[in-house]
Amino acid sequence: MTYDNIEEARFESRPNRFIAYVSVEGKQEKVHVKNTGRCRELLTENAAVFLNKSKNPKRSTCYDLVAVQKGSRLINMDSQAPNKTVQEWLEKGGLFPDTVSVRPETTWHNSRFDFYVETAEDKIFIEVKGVTLEQGDVVLFPDAPSQRAVKHVTELAEAVREGYKAYVIFVVQMENVKYFTPNRKTQPEFADALLAARGAGVQILAYDCKVTPDSMEIGQSVPVKLSEMEIAAEPLLSWYDKNKRTLPWREDPTPYHVWVSEIMLQQTRVEAVKGYYDRFMKALPDIAHLAQAKDEELLKLWEGLGYYNRVRNMKKAARMIMEEYGGVMPEEYEDLLRLPGIGSYTAGAVSSIACGRRAPAVDGNVLRVLSRLKGDGRDIARQSVRDDVTEELWRDMDTERPGDFNQALMELGATVCIPVGAPHCGECPWEALCAAHREKRELDFPFKTPKKPRTIEEKTVLVILDENRAALQKRPEGGLLGGMYEFPCLSGHLSRRQVLAYLKEEGLSVLKIEKLADSKHIFTHKEWHMIGYAVRVDELANKKNSGDLIFAKKQEVRDKYPVPSAYGTYLYNFLS
Ligand code: SF4
Repeated sequence: MTYDNIEEARFESRPNRFIAYVSVEGKQEKVHVKNTGRCRELLTENAAVFLNKSKNPKRSTCYDLVAVQKGSRLINMDSQAPNKTVQEWLEKGGLFPDTVSVRPETTWHNSRFDFYVETAEDKIFIEVKGVTLEQGDVVLFPDAPSQRAVKHVTELAEAVREGYKAYVIFVVQMENVKYFTPNRKTQPEFADALLAARGAGVQILAYDCKVTPDSMEIGQSVPVKLSEMEIAAEPLLSWYDKNKRTLPWREDPTPYHVWVSEIMLQQTRVEAVKGYYDRFMKALPDIAHLAQAKDEELLKLWEGLGYYNRVRNMKKAARMIMEEYGGVMPEEYEDLLRLPGIGSYTAGAVSSIACGRRAPAVDGNVLRVLSRLKGDGRDIARQSVRDDVTEELWRDMDTERPGDFNQALMELGATVCIPVGAPHCGECPWEALCAAHREKRELDFPFKTPKKPRTIEEKTVLVILDENRAALQKRPEGGLLGGMYEFPCLSGHLSRRQVLAYLKEEGLSVLKIEKLADSKHIFTHKEWHMIGYAVRVDELANKKNSGDLIFAKKQEVRDKYPVPSAYGTYLYNFLS
């Protein structure tokens, strides 16, 4: 698209949307502005502007103001130029090489779209939006709220539902920009409409333009970032590339390695997981070994990690993989969700990290980081909030590197936007984007409804020993710490006299009784407050393993019987 008769001038003032005063060769001239937007950031005093001289002698103004110099950038601001430029481009087959016809201004139901294009295969509606608003190399639309723009985008989604193809093309009336994004601050409704339209199948494209004072033509495709998360992904991934920790399961991220490490990481810190992970992989290097592992071996490998049902479920899942998937872990999120013990977080982690599938993995770390990034004051403990965040990530997460995107979010939560104490915002790739940081309210997010206090259970733990063995009992299957081994344990905090009475009733002859340290163990909903006694008896040596009690040597307790970490204080006392 070209202009016939361009002259350079200097901008002076703009008394209303249609008119501006400029200086042409030192003489003030009233000119028509071919853009009804405010364009305040463009039309600044003394800016170089370009005028197209009209051939119509009857017009009240002789010139149209069509372009402006902003720093080193020449910006075309003629609001009719984008449609003209796109028409020329479409007619040359610029977007669809097999274009058959291009019809501007076409009515469909109650809508009027900028173009109707037919190709050999498709019937296509196109809406064109000119973009002149630039901030730090990022271009935005609209510069003022536009209900018409929302209507058009919504109607294109409707056209897709009726079998048409549909495009919104943002024509960036300048060159060398980073990306296009909707101007959410000015009109959130338009940004939401674009996201919904994209979800419905409307293609959202942006192209920059080669602009000279007397011409404009379509140039290069410009990245389109419709949501905050799409904007945040790039700095997050660059930060991750430079700062990711070297971890054993990252060296060879097979589905099995990622699965085992993720389940362990749900239990404890990365540093603590490393040892468990190495031992587990040496003992059970693949799914076939896990499927055949004995329960006690499994519990022993898991000893101290807690939530023992998780490792039992891993074995069930391994068996299912052997039977239904020929021993190969499925890669798809939906298939992984069918396996026992694999919820949406683990399914997302395995399918994205090990298999490159696009699936979010939302855990507490991710919820915390995103609540701060967005300044989202909703309670992250609520399932509805977790579901919303997951849904948004399905829509907005990085498409090229989904596994790295998920790991980067987790890594940021673990090392920078930490759960306890002040986050390290100075090291954060989102420092400039983060709402909580902008408002200096980092610690106000995430909001959590105060939890109900945990129930307290008082217990008396008896470490009953003879010369070299201790009495253990197996906890009932199915309940808390089911199937694991513990020291005999009585309800309440019993005095020495009460313990002696109990032992006598059990037929044990006590040689010595000694108070041990108190201990506390915290589960999700309850706390055990324990006191303990070391009891030296003489009968264990002759007593057969019978009833609830078994008698185990130190080495057997170390290697064979899984004892939960809740008893750590007393176990240490026995083993040391
Ligand atoms: S800027 Fe601070 S609060 Fe915001 S995401 Fe980064 S570390 Fe967290």
